[in-house]
Amino acid sequence: MSDIPPGLPPFMGSPAGGPPPMASGGSFAQSLGAFGTMLKIQETISTRFPISKVPWRDTRVFLRAHSIESIRSTPLYGFMMRLFKDVGLGDMQLVGYAPMHYVFAVPGCPVCNIYPALHNQKVCVATTDALHRFFKEELELECMVEETECVKDSGAVCKFKVALQPISAYQVLLDDNDRLILSGKRPPAMEQPELVSRVEVLTIYKLLDRGKLSDIGEAYMQFAGSMPVKEKIFDPPWKTAEELRSIISKHGAFGAAFGEMATKVQSVQHSALEMPSSPPASSTPSTSSVPSLSSAPAAPSVQEQASKIKDEAKNAGSFAELIAKMKKQN
Ligand SMILES: [Zn+2]
Repeated sequence: MSDIPPGLPPFMGSPAGGPPPMASGGSFAQSLGAFGTMLKIQETISTRFPISKVPWRDTRVFLRAHSIESIRSTPLYGFMMRLFKDVGLGDMQLVGYAPMHYVFAVPGCPVCNIYPALHNQKVCVATTDALHRFFKEELELECMVEETECVKDSGAVCKFKVALQPISAYQVLLDDNDRLILSGKRPPAMEQPELVSRVEVLTIYKLLDRGKLSDIGEAYMQFAGSMPVKEKIFDPPWKTAEELRSIISKHGAFGAAFGEMATKVQSVQHSALEMPSSPPASSTPSTSSVPSLSSAPAAPSVQEQASKIKDEAKNAGSFAELIAKMKKQN
């Protein structure tokens, strides 16, 4: 890792902790080719990710699913796998799950192929970074991402583990009805099967223990009560694509479909113009140059609240420590 391959321009030398050098040992042309492929992936991520923000309502469906099969059938999962494929990171799939832990595998990982001469190390930094960025920015879920197995490191397949930060997962997972249940009240007009399924999810997430509020649940309820967060409501990024698909299948002919699609796109643009202006939600430089039809502007106070929780979470070394801190504050 430390020796820079001969012929590489100095800016491609890998700083400590940075991505591995491209195709070390290969020819200069090969290195440039690899560099170009990486640039292309990064560029596509910068264009596509900022317009892929997912509302909590849809992320909640993903978080509530607690078997590999049910997670795979959520719209968010389908959207995420298509997005990762589109940006050039390959055919990713969920292969492992535990509450707040997701293991994704990429058979025939294209990122590995960029480094033909590298061996005995995990090289898929681009995929690790993209997973982290997608969960953190598009889903608003703080997490740790690690490549646990890599084809370049004698793995059968490249595998990536995403571990969600609990406080941030709870913030997205719980809706008003869950909070009612946690405070010991039955939500009005809720049917028994839904109540049972919600209690099951709250138990899986360790907020309830044998039907009672757990220590974690108690601490979180105190914490959440002191920091109310207003949920942003907007359409998921896959909605427009689905509408267009249904228009095309309805008309059966491209010409007829085109007229209706044009009307649809105009109306989407029109409603986008009517949205109140507000400061950009993130400091990503590409955000301003990209049409963000589906990203909802955040009220600054909500943003501040969220970042406060995130800062708290970051400053605490562990969940237990955070819970302890939260208990002291109340
Ligand atoms: Zn890999």
